[in-house]
Amino acid sequence: MEKLSIETMIKMYCLHIHGNQELCADCSEILDYAFKRIEICPYQPDKPACAECPIHCYSADMRERIRLVMRYAGPRMWYRHPIVSLYHLRTKNKNITELPPKKDVKNDKNL
Ligand code: SF4
Ligand SMILES: [Zn+2]
Repeated sequence: MEKLSIETMIKMYCLHIHGNQELCADCSEILDYAFKRIEICPYQPDKPACAECPIHCYSADMRERIRLVMRYAGPRMWYRHPIVSLYHLRTKNKNITELPPKKDVKNDKNL
């Protein structure tokens, strides 16, 4: 569900900001990166929203790029995709103190 949420927001951003029906190379790169992070997230299977994460494993560049996407698409999700937005709100409000111990993913050689 989180992948669907991110994909929906990036598609909305690319359509409205870049004018593309299909994801452009730049937005595809962000999507691929975000999916890979979700797959290796140390907080799985019950991860919080990345914006609430205490370690935030994204590179500085990718963090800024996804921030721009979220800032645009986040507020617009409520009336276009309310069910997906409800899921996003649930992960956003997760109690961080209840998260399991993390492993170091910032230096993961696979990324
Ligand atoms: S470690 Fe944090 S920022 Fe990275 S994918 Fe997991 S929740 Fe998101
Ligand atoms: Zn784009």
